[in-house]
Formats: sequence, C-alpha cells, structure tokens
Amino acid sequence: MSRSINLAVIPGDGIGQEVVAQGLKVLNAVLPEDVKLETKEYDLGARRWHRTGETLPDAELEALKQHDAILLGAIGDPSVPSGVLERGLLLKLRFAFDHFVNLRPSKLFPNTATPLAGRPEIDFVVVREGTEGPYTGNGGSLRTGTPAEVATEVSVNTAYGVERVVRDAFARAQARPRKKLTLVHKNNVLVFAGHLWKNTFDKVAAEYPDVATDYLHVDAATIFFVTQPERFDVIVTDNLFGDIITDLAAAVTGGIGLAASGNVNPTGEFPSMFEPVHGSAPDIAGQGKADPTATILSVALLLRHLGYEAEAARIEEAVSADLAERDGTARSTDAVGDALAGRVAG
Ligand code: ATP
Ligand code: MG
Repeated sequence: MSRSINLAVIPGDGIGQEVVAQGLKVLNAVLPEDVKLETKEYDLGARRWHRTGETLPDAELEALKQHDAILLGAIGDPSVPSGVLERGLLLKLRFAFDHFVNLRPSKLFPNTATPLAGRPEIDFVVVREGTEGPYTGNGGSLRTGTPAEVATEVSVNTAYGVERVVRDAFARAQARPRKKLTLVHKNNVLVFAGHLWKNTFDKVAAEYPDVATDYLHVDAATIFFVTQPERFDVIVTDNLFGDIITDLAAAVTGGIGLAASGNVNPTGEFPSMFEPVHGSAPDIAGQGKADPTATILSVALLLRHLGYEAEAARIEEAVSADLAERDGTARSTDAVGDALAGRVAG
C-alpha cells in the first residue's frame, strides 16, 4: 500500500465548494500520521467557463492524470447552457480516464427518512457500466425540426466493455458477505444488447461458483427496489438503466444528502473520481446548509479504492453513529464536518 496520497480536488460549483471542504477535513482527520497527503485544487466548472470559456483544457486533463485519485464536489449552474459542462467536463473525464465502473452503494443508515414502511435492511451496491450504452453520442437526426424528423440514439455494447464490468461486479460480490449478484437489463425487448449481457454474465458466473446469481428485467427491478430492497446485494447493469435505478436507490435510502459515488478505473491505469450523487444545489448554496455526508462517504469510497480499508470503514461507522444521534435539528455544513472529523480521529 502506498503511504502517500496525491489527491486532485475539484470543488466545482455551488455547494460543491462547501461539501468538499468538509470531505477534506475528515480525510485529514482519519489518515494516520505516516500517510503523506498532498492535495492540488483545480478550478473547473461554471465560474471558470464564464471567465474563460473553457471546460477542461488538455493541459489540465494531463495534469489530473498524474494524481492517485480525484475528489469532486459538484459541477453545474443554471447560468450555463445544459450539456456544456456535462459533455465538456464530466463525460470528458469519464471517457478520458476510462471510468468503466460507476459505483453507487445504497445503505439504509439509522435514523434516516425512508419512504419504505417497516424499514427493511438495505445494503446493496450498484455497479453501473460507465463508458458505453446510449451515452457514447452515437446517433443523429434526419429532417430535424420538421414533422418528419427521425432521431436515433444508438446504444453501444461491446463484448470487451460488457465483460470487464461484469467481471468487476463478480469480484465485488465475492468480496461481500452475502455473495450475491443480480444482472439488471431488458433482454426480452432489447434482445441484441440484452443477450450479449446475459451470455457474458453466464459465462463469467461459471468462474464464480460461490457467487449466487439472479437476473431481473429493469422494470421488475424497480418494483423490488421498493417492495423487497433487502433481496439485493450487488447489481450490475448498463449505463442508462444504472443511471435511473441508482436515483431510485438513493430515494429509498434516505435521500440525496447521503448518496456517494465513484467513477472507477479498476485497473489503476488512470485516476478514479469520487463525488456525491447530488448536484450543486444553487437554491441553498452559500448558506452553510448543505449536508456534507454524501461527500464524506465518497471520501470513504476513495480511501477503500486506494487500499485504506480500515480508514474507509472508520468513516462509515462514524456516519452511522452520527446519524443515530442526530435529533432532527438542522446542523450547519461545518458542524456535521466537525462532528465526523472528531469521531474518526478517535
Ligand atoms: P444536477 O443537475 O447538478 O444533478 P439537480 O438539479 O438534479 O442538479 P441538486 O443540485 O442535486 O439537483 O439539488 C436537488 C435538491 O436537493 C435541491 O433542492 C437541493 O437544495 C437539495 N440538495 C442537494 N444536495 C444537497 C445536500 N448535500 N444537502 C442538502 N440538500 C441538498
Ligand atoms: Mg440531478
């Protein structure tokens, strides 16, 4: 294990700035003294775009490549046309650094508001494919703007791309106590892509006899997320289905203030990037109201990815203990960060 972490920090826009400061506070508190933490901040996002018209210049992409990992707050502002920062920055990073695993854990912590009755056990991880599907910009429009317009958005699925994410999901399932992996797709209608996914899944499953497997159509999966979320352990799915079901997963596990994610390159060839699922929340930015917990849980994912398992677990335990003691009175962003930093320093 490396005893130094060279971290790139992209606070971004709105509450991104506020929550990243708390993430770094907890990171500093949890790391043992012999681990050298170096951070470099990158000014990217809406303000930068307004100032210079740039989203992610090649020189900064190259510089980011030199880091062990990236911590991102949130990118986006209503003043920037939709798509500019998503394509020019977020998707550009995801493709350039080959973040083919999008990791989104869902855990129901104590004392959190879930719309589900009976508070079932919820503790699952969605492994969403990150570089293929309908997100590659493959498509077009004919007779645009006329009543005869035809638009296509092609879903790209390669044997290489599907197999590597399915293998990653099997390895993650095997490492968890329940060892269960569910493939979510829609292979009764999307037969070509669906069969590639199902055949690949079955082929890799033969190498993991100790992992229990299951297949669900995505529509059925959304029902079970609400009626039987405890049946899930690890889920692997394509880019678009993963996008949708992970928002649903966040909603049933206490909401957006707690949802963490990682854009992971498991090979380590490029740095992985960790970020809260929520956006820049312009409606509450600058007021010290944002809950930094999702960012702090993203720091835990970052540490686990870099091999600091004990430190990652300490953060998750601190969050769990802190939530159990929250009495419903609103606390400031800073106060939550201080409380968690205090707990992990232990
Ligand atoms: P994006 O397009 O960037 O995902 P969005 O419009 O989907 O943004 P968010 O920025 O995530 O939405 O905000 C959605 C709602 O959730 C807003 O009302 C916001 O105030 C609230 N919210 C988001 N993150 C937090 C947080 N960390 N703490 C408290 N409230 C939050
Ligand atoms: Mg959003």
